[in-house]
Amino acid sequence: MKIFNTLTRKKEEFVPVQEGKVGMYVCGPTVYNYIHIGNARPMIVFDTVRRYLEYKGYDVNYVSNFTDVDDKIIKKANEEGVDASVISERFIEECKKDMEGLNVKPATKHPKATEEINGMIQMIQTLIEKGHAYPVDGTVYFKTRSFEEYGKLSKKNIDDLEAGHRDIKVRGEDGKEDPLDFVLWKPKKEGEPAWKSPWGEGRPGWHIECSEMSKKYIGDTIDIHAGGEDLIFPHHENEIAQSEACNDEPFAKYWMHNAFLNIDGEKMSKSAGNFFTVREISEKYSLQVIRFFMLSAHYRSPLNFSDTLVESSKNGLERILTAIENVRDAVQSKEEGILTEEDCGNLEKVEALVKKYEAAMEDDFNTADAIAAIFEMVKLANITVKDGSKEYAERLLKTLEQLCDVLGIITEKEEELLDADVEALIQERQDARKAKNFARADEIRDQLAAQGIILKDTREGVKWTRA
Ligand code: AMP
Ligand code: ZN
Repeated sequence: MKIFNTLTRKKEEFVPVQEGKVGMYVCGPTVYNYIHIGNARPMIVFDTVRRYLEYKGYDVNYVSNFTDVDDKIIKKANEEGVDASVISERFIEECKKDMEGLNVKPATKHPKATEEINGMIQMIQTLIEKGHAYPVDGTVYFKTRSFEEYGKLSKKNIDDLEAGHRDIKVRGEDGKEDPLDFVLWKPKKEGEPAWKSPWGEGRPGWHIECSEMSKKYIGDTIDIHAGGEDLIFPHHENEIAQSEACNDEPFAKYWMHNAFLNIDGEKMSKSAGNFFTVREISEKYSLQVIRFFMLSAHYRSPLNFSDTLVESSKNGLERILTAIENVRDAVQSKEEGILTEEDCGNLEKVEALVKKYEAAMEDDFNTADAIAAIFEMVKLANITVKDGSKEYAERLLKTLEQLCDVLGIITEKEEELLDADVEALIQERQDARKAKNFARADEIRDQLAAQGIILKDTREGVKWTRA
């Protein structure tokens, strides 16, 4: 199996640190709002990598954090007049709902930065003791030049970086010995959450979070470290510097980065305002369609989001699910019978397509080609299942289900809610609201939204439509 390693800019044969096991760390979202569909790309892509590794028989320890202390979270908390944890807990829950809708498996562990502060303090201590970091007035900086290999992931030359930084005077960072140094610990500001430390009350910098959480939950050397390509510099470069300087071990063997989800050719991002949240999109499309759409391109290719492309994914997925439904019906309705000669010939073709699918996935997770192999199998199923034996239909079904499962495609068609069910749920929501049980009322609204039912509160009562 080959993985394109950002560290070497080459496709390399995958050899795990420990035979049969894979430790994988994927940088997770900062939880101050609903995630957008750009954020969903790494979630879907690396969940698929995990699923394929599991299909190959690896025991995967998949760790993905939530960054739950950050300027944006604090800003939002101050705006709402609540504690930062209220905001982060709310959006962690919302993020988990979106992940479920996208059929992203829960990680083996989802550590939260705020619960790992002691470990971060210990790492920072070690870095100071080893001469890689220094405290100044309550701030601790990493001494970038003390790590000789700095720049090896992003292929940046430290002297060029220095030139770029020379004129930048960052307010409050006057104590820096070198403009290239970055923050490991920052002192408390009024109204901000803070933890006790040997350097005074404060909070950790963003990069140290991932160094600590991957060390704690996977080990000093992890197999795969992944995230969106915007994280290569400075986030992942800094993680390498911190971890390798602290542990004296190589940090990650393989670095994987997904390209951006774009809209009109530009990166979808919160700051640019050109984004759709997963929640918004779920009112228009099934999230299964969004997942299928994301996997229709190679993860290292930019992907443009447009209704036309999503519609075409919707049709493609429908074609696969209808074929599987027909095979399932055939399994139900056919009489017991053994494989005919023709079935055996067709099963050889199925086997060849499984090999094609696997070859695509082994080639740096080329999901686009893997999906093409599924389409070929669907075509074969549509021609052969009618005259095939029950045994043949069973084997075909099992294979199709397995290959779809690796991509996280749910093969049962989503049951459409009947009008009467919708009305009953709307009534239950009204009752919940009357009883001031807003949590339940919201839950019902979300449940309906996930099924494409849009509610509108009007003077005449609640009106609803199907998306
Ligand atoms: P953030 O919450 O901004 O730290 O992002 C969480 C994850 O989403 C990171 O791995 C980012 O690289 C990734 N990400 C953010 N925007 C996009 C995008 N438009 N396309 C693909 N990945 C993205
Ligand atoms: Zn990270």
